[in-house]
Amino acid sequence: MPDTFASHIGKATSLSVAPTLDERRDSITCGGDTGKGIACGKNSAAGAVSQRACVFCGARVVLNPITDAFHIIHGPIGCSSYTWDIRGSLTSGDDLFRHSFCTDMSGIDVVFGGEQKLVRAIDEAVASHHPNVVFVYATCIAGVIGDDVAAVCRAAEKRHGIRCIAVQAPGFSGRKAQGYRLACDAIMQLIGTKPFPRSKAHGINILGDFNLAGEQWIVKNYLKGLGVDVVTGITGDASCAELMRAPQARLNVVQCAGSMLSLAKRMEADLGIPYVKVSFYGIEDTCASLSRIAAALDDDDLAERTDLFCRDQVSSLNPVVERYRSRLKGKKAAIFVGGGFKAISLIKQFRELGMDTVMVGTQTGNADDYDVIRSLVDEGCVVLDDATATELEKFMVERGADILVGGVKERPLAYKLGVAFCDHNHERKHPLAGFVGVRNFAEEVNASINSPVWAFL
Ligand code: SF4
Repeated sequence: MPDTFASHIGKATSLSVAPTLDERRDSITCGGDTGKGIACGKNSAAGAVSQRACVFCGARVVLNPITDAFHIIHGPIGCSSYTWDIRGSLTSGDDLFRHSFCTDMSGIDVVFGGEQKLVRAIDEAVASHHPNVVFVYATCIAGVIGDDVAAVCRAAEKRHGIRCIAVQAPGFSGRKAQGYRLACDAIMQLIGTKPFPRSKAHGINILGDFNLAGEQWIVKNYLKGLGVDVVTGITGDASCAELMRAPQARLNVVQCAGSMLSLAKRMEADLGIPYVKVSFYGIEDTCASLSRIAAALDDDDLAERTDLFCRDQVSSLNPVVERYRSRLKGKKAAIFVGGGFKAISLIKQFRELGMDTVMVGTQTGNADDYDVIRSLVDEGCVVLDDATATELEKFMVERGADILVGGVKERPLAYKLGVAFCDHNHERKHPLAGFVGVRNFAEEVNASINSPVWAFL
């Protein structure tokens, strides 16, 4: 370990889960701790400089992949740049969603109000791009000065005859998960609450898959081969018209439960569509998820086809996994990702590769997620919610992690420590879902951990 870093955090003499701030004490525990659980789902501790994104970012990442939507950020340009093209979501149709539009609020708007500027921005967007739906995000400054974004959107809907949906998401107003809920509310406004006759319902919706690097296409291909129709993805590679067909589905399958569970529950209550939680990361969870869909659709033939398909895929993957296991066995993994479902799948994936997880945390995991996580990891594995950069560094060093799995904000932490890194966040451009994702993940973990570059530290 470079001396500069060791002196920064202090050399660890024994394993502990001591927090870096007293206020964070209840949000850090370990695998063997059978105590009262972990504090989660709370606002970040003031001054802790959490790795979490803001409310607005949570809303934007969920709504962003709607391919023909127009997103206007009503706030300073920095909010827009922070979330511009933030997902590696691929499209098979329109690519309007990949642009970022902003009212670029400045001091004069703060003094005199920014509503008229927003009116002009919407009118200009409609005239120049003819979108089917406009989402308007009120960010911190608009929230502070109290611009009535909802009223501006209602008037724009009447003026232009299109959907114009206000997303009141000032970053300071809560935590990222609140942004997820605001996005789910916006989607419900779009698809409506008129139930489709259940007797005519067909196919499934895939919720919480944002088609990163075409991952939804991979899953759709599996389902198509098994004879299951997908009505729409929510929100990956979905046009506004496709989203409006969502009420026709028999079943919702929820991939990213952290962001989409509230939508699944609303659709069950208002539209009568049941849901199952799935994860297409890793062999175990991909097979279990396909089987869960077959069971939820109550189709014995489908269940049999699914079983055969999974056996076939697993037998062709086994030699690949074996090859990488021989190179990775005994290595230690640290995980810090957005939601609990992904952390759970990653722990299992590392186990498939013969690796131990020594630290695991999430930005938005809930108590149930953390119960599952603590049941999967060994005693001594640090489990933490809403971590800070300092905590991630401290525990990676203490536990001797060989690789960190995280996103763009965690990458420099790993490299600074001379630790391998695997990008598993929404910015990435390579698929890690499905059976092909198992191969890609093993290749990437091996390439990073066993890179010759570490010999030169
Ligand atoms: S915290 Fe506020 S100012 Fe910063 S990106 Fe989020 S909404 Fe914008």
